[in-house]
Amino acid sequence: MAYQTINPTTDELVKSYPNHTDADIEEALDAADKLYHSEWSKGPIQPRLDVLERLADLIDARKEELERIATVEMGKIITDARDEVAIIAEIARFFARNAEKFLAPTKIDSELGDAWIERHPIGALMVVEPWNFPYYQLMRVFAPALAAGNPVLAKHASIVPHCASVFEELVNEAGAPKGAWKNLFVTSGQVADIIADERVRGAAMTGSERAGSAIAAQAGKHMKKSTLEMGGNDVFVVLDDADLEKAVELGVYSRLHIGGQECICAKRFVLHERIADEFLEKFTEAMKNVKVGDPLDEKTKLGPLSSASALEGLSKQVDRALEHGATLHLGGKAIEGTGNFFEATILTNVTRENPAYFEEFFGPVAQVYVVKDDDEAVELANDSRYGLAGAVFSQNIERAKAMASRIETGGIWINTFASTAPELPFGGVKHSGYGRELSELAINEFVNQQLVLVAK
Ligand code: NAP
Repeated sequence: MAYQTINPTTDELVKSYPNHTDADIEEALDAADKLYHSEWSKGPIQPRLDVLERLADLIDARKEELERIATVEMGKIITDARDEVAIIAEIARFFARNAEKFLAPTKIDSELGDAWIERHPIGALMVVEPWNFPYYQLMRVFAPALAAGNPVLAKHASIVPHCASVFEELVNEAGAPKGAWKNLFVTSGQVADIIADERVRGAAMTGSERAGSAIAAQAGKHMKKSTLEMGGNDVFVVLDDADLEKAVELGVYSRLHIGGQECICAKRFVLHERIADEFLEKFTEAMKNVKVGDPLDEKTKLGPLSSASALEGLSKQVDRALEHGATLHLGGKAIEGTGNFFEATILTNVTRENPAYFEEFFGPVAQVYVVKDDDEAVELANDSRYGLAGAVFSQNIERAKAMASRIETGGIWINTFASTAPELPFGGVKHSGYGRELSELAINEFVNQQLVLVAK
């Protein structure tokens, strides 16, 4: 695996990064383990929370530089990069200000005596993260781990080494001790060896099902706890009483966010038959007029895909969907010239026999389905291997709430698109994974929830 920054807008190789050696890994494991057994991990929480506060301030102070690094490295438009950098500072502050409360002992009513649950760190974690949110994904695992006292070894995606390096630099500058966070440019085989190591007690993975299942298998074999944050095929349901202007505007935004390369963005548009034609007409017009181009230009709404292989994969996926009978309503191909650009695309008439029906399109490709009523919308939503997020648009909130409870996903949004905030738990069911990141739930994933009982 070569760790390289290749600008997806210009195809230019910006920089290559050398891999870490087995000796580097041993040093990282040793540092993490020593830290875990030290006062830093097991002692008072305040010094750890202070690091998170300082980290948030450092991020704010360097935000423009960080935004630009992400845009150059993986092509997200600068306005999306700005949102990402803002939220990572918020996540750091959220855990700095709430972790003590989240980790506080909780009392249990028991007839056997005075009982409570304490929350203690469990040891070093191995985390494997994707490129689409090159800072946010790291902060989602780092902030709760640091607060709880778990050291982290991190393998970031090989196409975002600059983001990986600068994140580590910020953590060190914020005063985290050696071992608290170690970025490793390593191979899949080395990741497997790290997970197998006795000093590592858990693994968190965000990315594809293929990689997730490999990492979960390695963790399971060695009896380590794991969490998986995988892909999604989220529905964006528009009912016949929805505010259509708003649904169109947010639908386009959600489908094209991060060039369509987001786990929780709208992927399957499920339209009530009474508004389907009107929605599709407006949605098509808006998708057609989206400004495609340089992601550093403030006016651009759709930048390039993150890599040449992502472009190739998406092109093949769309071709396959068409070969299996889907109708190309808009777009459908790579844009010729420099960079990994793909047209804003709409597919209709995707039948259940079409492989596209069950696939996640990681790019600006919307699938459109028409349903006759709420039951059919729910049935279609749940006819998916995934269960990450989704959205329901209706002006009848009770109707939307009833539908939301029937959709099998880790999260569901009403009258807005699926999004994220530090206090909102994030995760899925089915092939979208298990476990939760962010919120109070995150911090409980990798702690020893230790029972203490004092006999009567
Ligand atoms: P990916 O190929 O699985 O890559 C993700 C990370 O896993 C990268 O660091 C990659 O390293 C590493 N990796 C791949 N195979 C591995 C293995 N066998 N052992 C150890 N590490 C391995 O995923 P992707 O295609 O880049 O990311 C897109 C997927 O992530 C989509 O399905 C998306 O929906 C999902 N995602 C989910 C969430 C969520 O929170 N649920 C958030 C963001 C993205 P290399 O880069 O070196 O290959």
